[in-house]
Amino acid sequence: MKNERRSFIKKSIAAATVAAFSPNVLLAATRPVKEKLGVALVGLGYYSTDLIAPGLLNTQHCELKGIVTGTPSKIPTWQEKYGVEDKNVYSYDNYGDIANNPDIDVIYVILPPSMHKEYTVRGAETGKQMWCEKPMAPSVADCQAMIDACNKNKVRLAIGYRCQHDPNIQAYRKVVKEQRFGKVKMVNSAAGYFERRTDHWKQSKAMGGGVMGDMGVYAIQGARMATGEEPISVSAHTMTTRPEIYHEVEETATYLLRFPSGAMATCQSSFGVNMNHLQVNYEKGWLKMEPQTGYGGNRGSMSDGTEIYTPVKRQQPLQMDNDALALMNNTPYIAPGEEGLRDIRVVEAVLKSGANGSCEVKL
Ligand code: NAD
Repeated sequence: MKNERRSFIKKSIAAATVAAFSPNVLLAATRPVKEKLGVALVGLGYYSTDLIAPGLLNTQHCELKGIVTGTPSKIPTWQEKYGVEDKNVYSYDNYGDIANNPDIDVIYVILPPSMHKEYTVRGAETGKQMWCEKPMAPSVADCQAMIDACNKNKVRLAIGYRCQHDPNIQAYRKVVKEQRFGKVKMVNSAAGYFERRTDHWKQSKAMGGGVMGDMGVYAIQGARMATGEEPISVSAHTMTTRPEIYHEVEETATYLLRFPSGAMATCQSSFGVNMNHLQVNYEKGWLKMEPQTGYGGNRGSMSDGTEIYTPVKRQQPLQMDNDALALMNNTPYIAPGEEGLRDIRVVEAVLKSGANGSCEVKL
């Protein structure tokens, strides 16, 4: 009887796993098990070139196998540097042909935010697993469409929230979970840098620019992760000190988030000010992180003398390995599409409040 039951459970798990995966993953089940998942990068700009492709050289569970680009002149350099084979090079037009490429298991979208929805939906339709950079998309509606497309095609979507994979960030999340210093009372969360470019997608509304999608999601995450709660209302002030550059989108935003427990967070995000810190005041103590969102080197301290510092050179290999393992083991992603949407919900509220005289926007 016991054995029958065990075998039934085993079969049920196998059936559930099969149901959760796409035809491509099912096909893969009939091939020898891969030690590393093959990743194709869509968009070969700064982040792909300087962080993600070099980061993939330091991963254990995934590797760079393909590229998708609209700029043919970039192809030889990438092929030479990373050994990408001709058959794994795509343009934006034949992107969908990845469906038939067994070398590629995961598509990672690293384009301007306004293009995330289209390339995630098209990617999901190939049946490959999807990773997408932050901000997930310029609107909650786009984020939902991306989640829906992945669900419909039975593939899984992760957002490139590298910080959530950093043990230093995980350390401060644990403090609130364990109620080490009691309840959270007040948070200050800031993320900004001086953006020198003047004609980039970061200054274009149509391309999904503006500081809120860029540095804003980090400041919001600091507040959400430090409280362990989702905000229930937002009051914001948006502004620019360089109207000749930031006339379509906001250069700076300051905003107040209120949480269900009564905790409050004041947040600042800017393309005009260098800042990167988190301060959390609890009933019986405090915690500080500075920087809080670096690629590496995030560190902090607590009122009881505890230091938060685990050396992390770069978060990206950690992120991609964790996400690859989640796919291989069929375990949850640390930052799935739903997590990307949560931040964009707050971003939308900040922009709405900022455009309406800092009125309180309920969430
Ligand atoms: P980038 O401008 O350097 O690169 C964008 C790429 O998109 C380029 O290869 C460009 O050729 C391509 N592209 C295709 N169509 C385009 C169009 N119509 N207009 C502009 N570019 C077009 O940008 P980036 O800094 O690499 O950012 C790409 C994504 O990565 C963004 O979502 C950004 O927020 C994200 N990012 C994340 C981090 C992080 O720490 N997680 C850091 C940097 C960037």
